[in-house]
Amino acid sequence: ASQLRHGQFVGSLDCGTTSTRFIIFDRYANIVASHQIEFPQYYPEPGWHEHDAEQIMESCDACIDQACSELETLGWTKESVKVIGITNQRETTVAWSRKTGKSLCRAIVWDDNRVKNLVVHFENQAKTKGVEYEGKVHRGEEGLKALRKLTGLPISTYFSALKIRWMIDHNADVKKAFDEDDLLFGTVESWIVYRLTGATDGGVHITDVSNASRTLLLNLRKLQWEPSLLEFFGLKASMLPTLASSSEVYGKITYGLLKGVEIAGLAGDQQAALVGNKCLRSGEAKCTYGTGAFLLFCTGEEVVESKAGLISSVAYQNGKDSKPVYCLEGSIGVAGSAIKWLRDSMGMVQSAADVNTLAQKVPDTAGLYFVTAFGGLFAPYWDPSATGMIIGMSSYTTPAHIARATLEANAFMTRAVIESMKLDSGVDMKEMKVDGGMTNGDMVVEILADLVGLDIVRPEMRESTALGSALLAGSAVRLFGWDIARPETLHEVNTAGSTTFAPKLSAADRDAKWEGWQRAVERCRGWAGG
Ligand code: ADP
Repeated sequence: ASQLRHGQFVGSLDCGTTSTRFIIFDRYANIVASHQIEFPQYYPEPGWHEHDAEQIMESCDACIDQACSELETLGWTKESVKVIGITNQRETTVAWSRKTGKSLCRAIVWDDNRVKNLVVHFENQAKTKGVEYEGKVHRGEEGLKALRKLTGLPISTYFSALKIRWMIDHNADVKKAFDEDDLLFGTVESWIVYRLTGATDGGVHITDVSNASRTLLLNLRKLQWEPSLLEFFGLKASMLPTLASSSEVYGKITYGLLKGVEIAGLAGDQQAALVGNKCLRSGEAKCTYGTGAFLLFCTGEEVVESKAGLISSVAYQNGKDSKPVYCLEGSIGVAGSAIKWLRDSMGMVQSAADVNTLAQKVPDTAGLYFVTAFGGLFAPYWDPSATGMIIGMSSYTTPAHIARATLEANAFMTRAVIESMKLDSGVDMKEMKVDGGMTNGDMVVEILADLVGLDIVRPEMRESTALGSALLAGSAVRLFGWDIARPETLHEVNTAGSTTFAPKLSAADRDAKWEGWQRAVERCRGWAGG
């Protein structure tokens, strides 16, 4: 071991929807070592999607161990990892016991839509009982608007408050823990920090404001849990994590190969990708295509209220005493998961990458549209009554048309979000930065450029989610002189090039296809529960 060299690196634990990875970066954002593990997905009923929080934790421990072992094999000491950041699938809700530190039931994943009926219930509550905003109770449509002003969010199956409410109402163990004040609630980063900093003996129970802004419980401007909303959803303050910024030292890892290393960066995966793309200032935007797709647009220190179906969130808060930076977001529920569905449920392709070759076999979809509204529609429609739909089939239709229509759906939903961004911000985007697993497919990106009608810029190094949390962590302790508040200190980071995909389709064809998409979307709405 004496021959091992000592370097300076930053680690990022990226806890995604389908897999966990631990990536060790150097000061230039080169990946020095990494390890990735897919963990099981559970779909117990139509529309339900669960994870086992203990399995997520095991995958985190194993990824850290494996990546650090790889680092040593490469000739570096594990002490070269100076600090780590964590980034996570957002909204996914974990309930665990204060007494045992163990999860009480399966985590409810962000795209699970079992709480459809609760959405209707709480919308009615907001209208009849009303919502308090700036010292006044608002009722009717104004009640819904007040809730949106407070939190930046619509009431949707997507956000955590409804998911934890469901657990308390339907799981006896969670209910008992709730009654006995033994229940701890958190999103995935909160769960992982709790365990890394204390194992099952109980560590730090915190969440960062970017994740907290996705719960429906955070006052977006004050960055405090909102007591009136806790009451509205029937929750208790004692179960909530303490709020923290996205870049500060939260605690130390208490076991394993990285024992003693500080955790200093936390952000939800989409916000982390924004930071990782160095979109730190007002007007800068990126779209990440993983399980879902998420277009985020920095609005600086101001909350911009969307009039066109987008949501407002905290992008990041650079330290306890800094003002937060906000963003507008268009969240698309289904992106890569539709490709996973073609592969795993339909058996149309062997691997996710094969969808590109299959789609390429035909020049167009021959009038076929596939609205991939598997769990209802998210931005800008926010319609839990929409369902997945393939329309325009004939005996001419082949799997290639369906594959192509799947990639087109992804592009149309992106266009819908971009149209909303235009309405809200008045800014016409000239190009869009993209990343995420799905953008590994060239066809995915070509179709995107064609149907959106923008230059699409794909960086070479696409682990921007992981990089974002590494930057937040490094910045907190000024590793490499990084300081998120001074983007010029990041000029050496990730300078590897990018590829630009320009649209090739004519404007007339693009508009005709867009018109068809809009008609298709109208037809799939209202089908669930109809
Ligand atoms: P997450 O962080 O949400 O787990 P990733 O960013 O790892 O997701 O992306 C994984 C998704 O990308 C999967 O749903 C998969 O179907 C899709 N995907 C991976 N490679 C390709 C490819 N070459 N072409 C199209 N889709 C792909």
